[in-house]
Amino acid sequence: MGRFYITTPIYYANDAPHVGSAYTTVNADALARWHRLAGDDVKFLTGTDEHGQKMADAAAKNGFSPQEWTDQVSERFREAWSVLDISYDDFIRTTEPRHYATVQKFLSVIYENGYIYTDVYKGLYCVSCEDYYTIEASDDGMCPIHHSPLTEMEEENWFFRLSAFEDRLLEYYAENPGFVTPETKRNEALAFIKSGLRDISITRTSITWGVPVPWDERHVFYVWYDALINYLTAIGYGQDDDEVAIWWPNSHHLIGKEIIRFHCVWWPAMCMAAGLEPAHHVHVNGWLLVGGEKLGKTMAAEGGVNLTDIEPIALTKEFGVDPLRYYLLRETALGNDGEFALESIVARYNTDLANNLGNLVARVTTVVASKCASVAPAPSGDSPLRLAAESALQGAAHAWEDFAPQRALESTWSLIGATNAYLETLAPWKMEPGEQVDAVMGDALEAIRIVAILVSPAMPGVAEEIWRRIGLTGSPASAPFSRYAVWGQSAGGGRVVKGDPLFPRIKSDE
Ligand SMILES: [Zn+2]
Repeated sequence: MGRFYITTPIYYANDAPHVGSAYTTVNADALARWHRLAGDDVKFLTGTDEHGQKMADAAAKNGFSPQEWTDQVSERFREAWSVLDISYDDFIRTTEPRHYATVQKFLSVIYENGYIYTDVYKGLYCVSCEDYYTIEASDDGMCPIHHSPLTEMEEENWFFRLSAFEDRLLEYYAENPGFVTPETKRNEALAFIKSGLRDISITRTSITWGVPVPWDERHVFYVWYDALINYLTAIGYGQDDDEVAIWWPNSHHLIGKEIIRFHCVWWPAMCMAAGLEPAHHVHVNGWLLVGGEKLGKTMAAEGGVNLTDIEPIALTKEFGVDPLRYYLLRETALGNDGEFALESIVARYNTDLANNLGNLVARVTTVVASKCASVAPAPSGDSPLRLAAESALQGAAHAWEDFAPQRALESTWSLIGATNAYLETLAPWKMEPGEQVDAVMGDALEAIRIVAILVSPAMPGVAEEIWRRIGLTGSPASAPFSRYAVWGQSAGGGRVVKGDPLFPRIKSDE
């Protein structure tokens, strides 16, 4: 049995969750579900990032204290994840005492190791990024991300000696070619390291909403610096060395490409400075774009595109939870940018879900009801569908292991397609009740049983419902994969039920 520790970024709790954060979280959830299905011991962590000036400003603007404000916003994330059926094992908030303890412990070790020093910092600052830019990196004095003016700031700060880690990071990348995936994002991180690393300012005196620096109480840690450490807080760093030893070597960070610099350069260097191996793996996903702009509330407001209607919860009301999850997993390869559009959700829904999967389940349960007295016939050992099932199982398993939900679902749909084609060729609905129709339907039900197992990481609710309709007990996700995701494991005899369409077609406007 393997171990799999998967994390999402902790989301900045200054506004409600948007589809961009749902995208990363649903992918992390499907990967966590796959690994549980495959029998691995899984820990799935998500949470909210609650410090920093932007947060304090948002709280003040809305008439709350920072703590009251983050309590509310953090709760909205929990609600959204509950609606989206996100099976996290731990939800961390950076304002929790356990996090303060870990941050202070971890950074004290780095301080004692001599990698933190004090100096005056001058630079161009973006309040929205909570980060400094050099004049070269700025867009003519404007923030390259927010297109808003940068302000000149000067403060006494504590600095992290990032420059000391250039060679060690390059060595680490060379020795661990799988540390950052996909390759294009790994190259981006490498290029950044090779361009030369400057020490980074890690504390602020200008704000108070943060984790206090234990050796200098006038300062709080810069929000990014405290946030990264959440991944260690959740496995008990500084409290429980055994837990760290169990989970840290099996850690996988799923992140968006805008935070490559933090996760692929700062974070491994911070770990090295604290005498800890960096995380095992960072997978970088692209952005969902709307009309070429990154999807997210801040950008929406500034870009003039009104995206407030596409909060994830609103989308689930329109399309259903599992269809939305399916779209987020299937439309774009995890690692590339994708275009997010309501028309493409409708197209995926009608084609893949209504026409292919929904239709398959409907026709099979209907024929079993009318020709087999609603009792599931057993599959045959030498069905022509067996090969299609075995190839789908193998393809999907490899793809899930490779952080490629899109390919895993393509493999799964190849079995759905093969089964629909098989039924169209044999037309069991024209057969008389008897051995011949039983044989065809036994094989079709077996293919559907395997499909239900394979779609369960993506669409857990739909998978359960299919399982029930084809007369099986228990759950597709709880059956040990290595034993049950095998052709011919069903004995038949279950009571098959017809039901309403799993995916009623959505009429498009045209
Ligand atoms: Zn900015």
